[in-house]
Amino acid sequence: MKFLTSLGLSFACLALTAQTPETTATRRKCGTVQQDVSQHQAFEAWMQASLQKDNQFANAKKASVVYTIPIVFHIIHSGTTVPARNISQAQVNSQIVILNNDYRKLNADFSTYVTQSAFVSSAADIQINFCAASVDPNGTALAEPGIDRVNVTTKGWSALPYATSYIESTVKPGTIWDPTKYYNVWVLQFGGSDVGTLGYAQFPTIPSGTSPVTDMVGQGGAASTDGVVVDYRYVGNTGTATAPYNKGRTLTHETGHWLGLWHIWGDDNDCSGTDYVSDTPNQQVENSSCPSTNGAVKTDACATVAPGFNYQNYMDYSDDKCMAMFTAGQRDRMQAVMANCIRRKTLNNAVACVSVGIKEEAAGILVDVFPNPTSGRVNINVELMDTQDFSVSVMNTLGQTVKDVKQTASNGGLVTLDLSEHPQGVYFVTVKSKTASVTKRVVLQ
Ligand SMILES: [Zn+2]
Repeated sequence: MKFLTSLGLSFACLALTAQTPETTATRRKCGTVQQDVSQHQAFEAWMQASLQKDNQFANAKKASVVYTIPIVFHIIHSGTTVPARNISQAQVNSQIVILNNDYRKLNADFSTYVTQSAFVSSAADIQINFCAASVDPNGTALAEPGIDRVNVTTKGWSALPYATSYIESTVKPGTIWDPTKYYNVWVLQFGGSDVGTLGYAQFPTIPSGTSPVTDMVGQGGAASTDGVVVDYRYVGNTGTATAPYNKGRTLTHETGHWLGLWHIWGDDNDCSGTDYVSDTPNQQVENSSCPSTNGAVKTDACATVAPGFNYQNYMDYSDDKCMAMFTAGQRDRMQAVMANCIRRKTLNNAVACVSVGIKEEAAGILVDVFPNPTSGRVNINVELMDTQDFSVSVMNTLGQTVKDVKQTASNGGLVTLDLSEHPQGVYFVTVKSKTASVTKRVVLQ
């Protein structure tokens, strides 16, 4: 892709032809637009140096880092006025499942739309999981994991819908949970000058010590606004989800920005721009609708030969149903962000992922989980200091307990569980005795 003169760090998705937000948008447009050249270049200078320094993500060992990010959806609604804005837990859960599938390359439509061998081989598992936050910032268990419902009337705010300026000045600062511990996602209805927006993201902030160390203000970089905003009609694949953006890919796309990705065509209209990713072919402009329903080669002035341009990429503007992949180059950038960036590197294993947190060790109890990753059967070897009852439970990323086994009076032992009937992804195994508790993460592949 190519580089343009105005790359910024805050992105939003708009539907270009949608004058009436209630009708189906016919063309995606993202509000995460690149606008501040100096800060954009500072980010890229850091990114390229980071990738080059240890070439750390180019080898299988480093790329095997698996992150888990606690996510909370702040659902901004006005009670009974437009009840649909107060989307259901089922709709949020469908989005979390989609995020996990897309970021682990487990999406079922991959094989339908990614058929060119060059793209099949460049497609990557990003190795990032998302879990519904199980506790709020005070440590109180959430009745609905991953959900914070906010009634604007109770808050004394203006009536919905909202333009970005009000979201940035009032909604986000008034509701955000500690962005070093949670990935904040706001679900609301866009209005005013932002009617038709599907969503927008705040770009990551480069580590302190990097020059410049600004918080990328002007590109949406303050701690009080960190996260992603999505219109309530483009979340998940059920409830209010509206075609053609009804497969949850708006949040997959915006999360890509939030983790340091640019639009795949470089936000220009010729071949001079770039997304700074070597394995995404140069592309002239953004796509709309579905360039092909079977992954056929499509070429333009910048990508003149097979495999053509990568309209199947989540960072294009294609319809939800034909976006199906990230590349290894995009993975490297997101892994670099997770390893280094302010308010990103602290998210992995943050306590909100399970109410007890990831606690690898505790006095008086030894737990070994293997094999990990597993294709189904997982062994949990437990050793206790003395004879007592203990339990072994397994929770999924939605905060649901999928296995719960009680053992009476013993010094431990081997418990074997079969997870093969459950979806692939990350699970949390908790072993609890009368006096101690240990939680470990296991990946089902
Ligand atoms: Zn975008």
